[in-house]
Amino acid sequence: MSQPAVRPHCDLKPQSVPLLRPDLTPGRARLIRLLANKWVNGTVLHYWFLDGPEAQRQAVRDAFKEWKALPLGLQFVEVTDRSESEVRIGFDQADGSWSYIGRDVLGIPATDQTMNFGWDLTDDYGHSTALHEIGHTLGLPHEHQNPFAGIVWNEEQVYTYFTGSPNFWSRDQTKHNVLDKIAAADVEGSTWDPDSVMEYWFPAGLIQQPAQYQGGLQPAGGLSTEDKTWARKFYPAQDSTLPILTPFESVSLSLTPGQQADYSLEPTESRTYQLSTFGTADTVLVLFEKVGDELRFVAGDDDSGTDRNATLSTKLFAGRHYVARLRLYWAGASGQTALMYW
Ligand SMILES: [Zn+2]
Repeated sequence: MSQPAVRPHCDLKPQSVPLLRPDLTPGRARLIRLLANKWVNGTVLHYWFLDGPEAQRQAVRDAFKEWKALPLGLQFVEVTDRSESEVRIGFDQADGSWSYIGRDVLGIPATDQTMNFGWDLTDDYGHSTALHEIGHTLGLPHEHQNPFAGIVWNEEQVYTYFTGSPNFWSRDQTKHNVLDKIAAADVEGSTWDPDSVMEYWFPAGLIQQPAQYQGGLQPAGGLSTEDKTWARKFYPAQDSTLPILTPFESVSLSLTPGQQADYSLEPTESRTYQLSTFGTADTVLVLFEKVGDELRFVAGDDDSGTDRNATLSTKLFAGRHYVARLRLYWAGASGQTALMYW
């Protein structure tokens, strides 16, 4: 192993949990919890550096490029203007490494960072750290908190280790980042990937079971096969040519949970339009305008867990190009949804 024995760990920011009506079926609530923090595929995430030496910034750029090259349908674009950014990255060496999860970054005030790196990113461990924090920004939780790992902790050893050097966490932080398990219903699939880039390494003595990790757990480093498979499935590379949605034409969609439909809108008249879903499905609907080579966010709506439909009302201009993206959480009673603008 090229990695030294003692290295600090990521201190994940608390994740927002959607407040759901109690009458939703468990299956519907689960899909909303699973998908609510993920980005609509095709989103352009603009990242901005608060500070940091060039070599450290370059390590982060390289990690974004590595995720993008899988390939993914998301785009990552560095911007020099803070106000243009969704992802704001600092290098406060006294604050550890952390990120918010997925779309939670949109709720962070523009004056605040959404990601920090608290140690050198130019070695192997730093490279995995950069990939890991970006993984959180893509919506991934910690893999060692996957209940299917079946990890039985030596809890007092865990507290002793993480409250000491080099992490100096509180007991609450330790519980939040290590001991707390994600509810089984809130995990995709039913397997654990000990080589995931979202898995911590652990020194000997913290894990009691599975017995093979009593001497410590050391992920391989970098993106695992399963990390890549998940990302390619959830954020697949997209064709640049999309089907055109014409005004007053309703398109019927049979999507499975997590699946997305994308349409190009080419209005020939400048006026206020309504864009809406129909049916009982839970969806997130986002509209972008194509500016040069880039898609800029115009408006979005998320009707998950409610009886209403995702609806946008916005002025569109003749001759401009727009893209509507609709991601399904729950297919509704009929399994069908429809999309129209008028
Ligand atoms: Zn983390």
